Amino acid sequence: MARVEVTNVTVSQGVRMLFSLMTPNESSFATVREVPTYVNQATPYFIGLILLEIVLGWLKTDGPRIKINDFITSLSAGMMSRLPQLVMRSLELSAYIYVWNNFRVLELPWDSAWTWWLAFLGVDMGYYWFHRFAHELNFLWAAHQVHHSSEYYNLSTALRQSVTQQFSSWVFYLPLALMVPPSVFAVHIQFNLLYQFWIHTELVKNLGPLEWILNTPSHHRVHHGRNPYCIDKNYAGILIIWDRMFGTFTPESDKVIYGLTHPISTFEIWTVEFLYYPYLWQRFWETEGISNKLSIIFKGPGWTPGKPRLGDIADIPQITGEEMPHDPAWSPAMQAYVFVQFMLLIDVYNNLLMYQMVSTVSVFFFILFFYFPSELEMLRCVLIVALQRFGYIKPLVPLLAFLIEVSLTDTLMYDSRCMAQLTIKLLCVFLALAAWAVHLS
Ligand SMILES: [Zn+2]
Ligand SMILES: [Zn+2]
Repeated sequence: MARVEVTNVTVSQGVRMLFSLMTPNESSFATVREVPTYVNQATPYFIGLILLEIVLGWLKTDGPRIKINDFITSLSAGMMSRLPQLVMRSLELSAYIYVWNNFRVLELPWDSAWTWWLAFLGVDMGYYWFHRFAHELNFLWAAHQVHHSSEYYNLSTALRQSVTQQFSSWVFYLPLALMVPPSVFAVHIQFNLLYQFWIHTELVKNLGPLEWILNTPSHHRVHHGRNPYCIDKNYAGILIIWDRMFGTFTPESDKVIYGLTHPISTFEIWTVEFLYYPYLWQRFWETEGISNKLSIIFKGPGWTPGKPRLGDIADIPQITGEEMPHDPAWSPAMQAYVFVQFMLLIDVYNNLLMYQMVSTVSVFFFILFFYFPSELEMLRCVLIVALQRFGYIKPLVPLLAFLIEVSLTDTLMYDSRCMAQLTIKLLCVFLALAAWAVHLS
């Protein structure tokens, strides 16, 4: 696997980049190649803050609600959305570089603080318009609704990202490419995304005067609400001023009920990511008349024939304030099993990103053993052991190699309803033990 040189961020930078507190001096680069992979290196800081939120939540009786099923779905979506960028440059950056190379009218200096701040504002305004269109055009909403599908609101919700969103967001940053060098853009497109992590929390109530300028947890809670007063409001990335300027701002008032107006009630990752596309297709064919068909695609998700462009707010289900999130019962043993497996996979994922082991094969394998249907759980476990044996995956800490193999032997408790499955499970345990023996010898 090819390893690409990566510029590592320091711990101080790792923390500050999450709050948009980096300075132009330490984050200006002459070329795109020198720009650190800030987002890819953020995983440990994400995990650290998520753990802090859980602990503080336990200490407060009215702290945030975090459920393991929702938590794992959100993190899975986050990981899935970053995978394409392991094998190719992001579409946002590729399109930007193309426009800069062919159509730029000005060449602002990459090492000027003025350029840095202009890019900060430009990217943030570009994000506002992208985000607004993502809510107001049904075919863009098909991608963005993934981010809104959690009925909880905590830091893990921030990571619930769409795989397909990157195929539309790039358009909105192209005006900047007429004058701002790609290396400056490549920094800010990452900082803009990273800032939006910490605002997904119920722990921070109100930030006083900062609420006037910044997008805050309070403003973004409204954005995630399905109460009528929350619909199509507060699209900001870092600065809330865009919503105030363009008439989409509303402050937090009634208790916010989170999620989609029609909850999807599933934690199945493929459904969460892609369900809306067949639904859109079905609505397109069911609707009579070519003009109505086009409106289904290009008007708001709530539009129906005869209604205003963004639909009628009176059509959405009423909120009582007593809504309970989807939370089916599952055994503590299964929860423990899934949690342990998931933690091990985060380690593998982090390994992929940190060392940029960019080969299509590694990404393919990651998808294989991460997003396997549950019926093939045994095969997934055997594959992980095999990949580790043959050196395709290497845990950061060597001891984890042993732990991964041992953990796979606990698959016996996963499901033992039929003999065929049990046989495969025993085979899996045998393989893991054999692999462990070879490891020790
Ligand atoms: Zn949104
Ligand atoms: Zn959000």
